[in-house]
Amino acid sequence: MANSPDVLAQFNYLEKTGALDALADLRKENRELERIITDAALIVANTDVDSMMEYVIAKLLDHFIPEFLAFLVHPPRGNTLRQFCYRNLKKTDEKIAPVYYEILTERFTRNPVHATFAELEGELGADVFAKDFRALKPEIIFPMFGIGGIYGTVIFGKKIIDTEYTELEQKYVDRMIRFLAVSMQNGLHYESSITDHKTGLYTHDYFIRRLDEAMARAGRHRALSGILMLDVDHFKRFNDTWGHVTGDLVLEAIAQVLKQSTRTEDCAARFGGEEFSVLVSDCNEKTLMHVAERIRMAIGAIHLTSGKDTLSVTVSIGARMIDARYRGRLGISPLILVGDADKALYRSKHEGRNRSSLFMQGLLERAKHLNEIT
Ligand code: GH3
Ligand code: MG
Ligand code: MG
Repeated sequence: MANSPDVLAQFNYLEKTGALDALADLRKENRELERIITDAALIVANTDVDSMMEYVIAKLLDHFIPEFLAFLVHPPRGNTLRQFCYRNLKKTDEKIAPVYYEILTERFTRNPVHATFAELEGELGADVFAKDFRALKPEIIFPMFGIGGIYGTVIFGKKIIDTEYTELEQKYVDRMIRFLAVSMQNGLHYESSITDHKTGLYTHDYFIRRLDEAMARAGRHRALSGILMLDVDHFKRFNDTWGHVTGDLVLEAIAQVLKQSTRTEDCAARFGGEEFSVLVSDCNEKTLMHVAERIRMAIGAIHLTSGKDTLSVTVSIGARMIDARYRGRLGISPLILVGDADKALYRSKHEGRNRSSLFMQGLLERAKHLNEIT
């Protein structure tokens, strides 16, 4: 009875009316939507903005390869536009003039729908986009909507295989960007919340959190790390002589040195005012002091010019290993370690500044330590 004439007649009827085709289309769209939801859910799993971008770009690869791709975003604080540009899906340093960001934001505020470059030219006038912008061969441009409205645009260049973007591709990109936009804005807010804005280093709070984690690791795996506390020598005098604006330039230059002297798994922070802290992972006393000395000398080598004067500063450093000593002891705060490093820092100050000292426990251990290194 499986294929009774009744069922066959019904099947033929459905086929004739096109209902079966419509069903197949619906299924296809369903699969497409499921894919977008899965892809989108994974955007959120990326914690930093760069890996979010990498992920989205990898997803685009499943569909097409744009010759040029640019994400222009206005970060939560500060006035500089952040640009993430890719040529043939590799990161490039090419930059787009901010004026185009303004023009596009103005258009998307009025009309929040993505558009082809040809459509935008028609709408806004061809002379709005100069040669530098055209050279990117933009093909289609999308807005990025975050919590407070538009905060970015995405520019797709023409495809490497020179065909137009299909309706389906545009739809996929549009949906992906809607998810990316919210998730990326989250990421940017988070980044901003752990960044010190004068120096671009991490904040004090973030440093303490990382220190807490390093202490937990030291307890569990004996993976030792250390911290450095740095303080600029006679900085008040420097400010009084050269002014606070020049003083700020010194702080920025020091931050630059710290960024260059640390690895990605380390953490360099502005602890406050003219004090900095560094978490150095995977080290022993010797390598920690080696890092300290390298940083101290690199900072001493910074030269700023003010008129015909050449200005420089020195720093004093205190170091402290994070050992497994506190294992299992509750309530030991990372601030105790910072306090110890501070004691070593004050010894550096006391002994004449522009030097590094390592914190050591009591007298006995100190004697033992001296025995070991000599
Ligand atoms: P010492 O060698 O003992 O550390 O002397 P010092 O003058 O550096 O010490 P003190 O703590 O008395 O002064 C710190 C100075 O750092 C005072 C303050 O004006 C300056 N300072 C703190 N934060 C900033 C900042 O963001 N910008 C500038 N330009 N100066 C700052
Ligand atoms: Mg100080
Ligand atoms: Mg100081």
